[in-house]
Amino acid sequence: MSTYDVAIIGSGPGGYVAAIRCAQLGMKTAIIEKYNTLGGTCLNVGCIPSKALLDSSHHYEDAIKHFEEHGIEIPGEVKINFKKMIDRKASVVEQTTKGINFLMDKNKIEVFTGVGSFKDATHIEIASEGKTETIEAKNTIIATGSKPSTLPFIKLDKERVITSTEALSLSEIPKHLIVIGGGVIGLELGQVYRRLGAEVSVVEYMDRIIPTMDGAQSKELMKVMKKQGVKFYVSHKVSAVKRDGKTVTVTATNKKDEEVTFEGDYCLVSVGRKPYTEGLNLDKAGVKANERGQVEVNDHLQTNVSNIYAIGDVIRGAMLAHKAEEEGVLVAEILAGQKPHIDYNLIPGVVYTWPEVASVGKTEEQLKEDGVKYNSGQFPMRALGRSRASGDTDGFVKILSDANTDEVLGVHMVGARVADLISEAVTAMEFRASAEDIARMSHAHPTYAEAVKEAALDATDKRALHF
Ligand code: FAD
Ligand code: NAD
Repeated sequence: MSTYDVAIIGSGPGGYVAAIRCAQLGMKTAIIEKYNTLGGTCLNVGCIPSKALLDSSHHYEDAIKHFEEHGIEIPGEVKINFKKMIDRKASVVEQTTKGINFLMDKNKIEVFTGVGSFKDATHIEIASEGKTETIEAKNTIIATGSKPSTLPFIKLDKERVITSTEALSLSEIPKHLIVIGGGVIGLELGQVYRRLGAEVSVVEYMDRIIPTMDGAQSKELMKVMKKQGVKFYVSHKVSAVKRDGKTVTVTATNKKDEEVTFEGDYCLVSVGRKPYTEGLNLDKAGVKANERGQVEVNDHLQTNVSNIYAIGDVIRGAMLAHKAEEEGVLVAEILAGQKPHIDYNLIPGVVYTWPEVASVGKTEEQLKEDGVKYNSGQFPMRALGRSRASGDTDGFVKILSDANTDEVLGVHMVGARVADLISEAVTAMEFRASAEDIARMSHAHPTYAEAVKEAALDATDKRALHF
């Protein structure tokens, strides 16, 4: 039986990054993945394919709506070859997952294909196509990720009542896509199909979309997406979803307690994801999970069994690829005797709609709830020369800073390329910058980043220069 210093179950961004860092630190490392391709949810049915479809549909929208204003005329009709769009997405996924195989080889990490399950705290059985083998691991990292959750009364048939996984590989463009849940998945994939011509209705339980982000972002994104033709039904509680042939009917109750029905040909259920531990046999190793199914960990991401750790979507916290990656690195370094640290407050969150939405630190709602006195500075994208040049005038940058010390406490953005701009805010906050620190830094002109400087000027003492 082979013995490893560390075995990692699951090859998503948490697992494969943990494996690389363990190998870099000299540990004999094995990674176990039940699917034939590495990369987990993120690379196969998450971040990468959704961004590929967002990019393709954005090109189409530009071609039919915006090329003309730039003086570009296309003779004849611009047509969508949806199969080709989906095939391209598949090829982007293939290239990306193959890249992980390359990284595993490069770092001499042993890859096992099969379902990993605990026999006890130091032995893992790997089952694949009727065959099983057992390996010994001094330490194990559980990185088994998450799966889409649903509502108790919904039967996901994966044909018409679907999750994000199916929505990324449809064979036709829906005529009317009903999206349950106005969170990240619902808005990203809702926007893809709206651009491609579908009628899209988003039914959200809370009184605003992306409810965990700053309220100003929810408002701005909803305003822009409404202009793009997406219909929103907030404060609607879905009570039934029925499929009859090609028709799906969704019933919901609105704020006035009236019953509302929506009829479409597809319904995307995007009400969150749940930790995935099925088949792991956690009990055989004595590892505890909580009532939400999350593997319980301490600050070192160690479970109640001292040589077993857990990272990523399967534990508490934001379900984000970069959060999983940081945790993978943290556990590897702890195993090597180092003292790493993650500041969870500084993990950014991004929605890749267009305009993009990006956030780090505390929202205005959180600061109010915590009773913190703060200054708020805001700058609209439309006041930037760069935005007018590209035609991307929606959105803003908002900076919240401590009223006493001027330390930046939160940065919230909507606009072109803010997914990239948020890194400046993360860097500033990691170094505990004040709003004035950002305001005094030179920002290249003309860039979208100038909005960050201007919002910082506004937060410092209302002295934005261009608004
Ligand atoms: P996962 O990526 O879920 O990987 C877990 C792996 O473990 C899987 O491959 C699974 O097959 C394997 N596994 C499970 N059980 C076993 C077992 N017993 N034996 C062997 N293998 C097993 N996050 C972002 O940060 N940015 C984005 O843009 C983004 N977009 C997304 C879009 C969509 C549509 C979805 C669904 C998610 C998106 N996410 C995004 C979230 C992101 O994908 C997850 O947060 C991330 O993949 C979590 O990584 P992980 O390593 O914890 O788990
Ligand atoms: P989410 O938590 O972002 O959004 C779920 C939405 O559904 C929320 O707005 C919630 O209020 C709503 N909801 C819950 N119950 C409802 C009900 N009964 N009726 C109507 N609405 C209801 O979850 P998601 O969009 O499914 O995404 C799952 C996870 O994947 C998220 O945690 C997210 O972090 C991750 N993800 C990230 C990205 C990204 O980083 N760009 C993209 C996609 C997914």
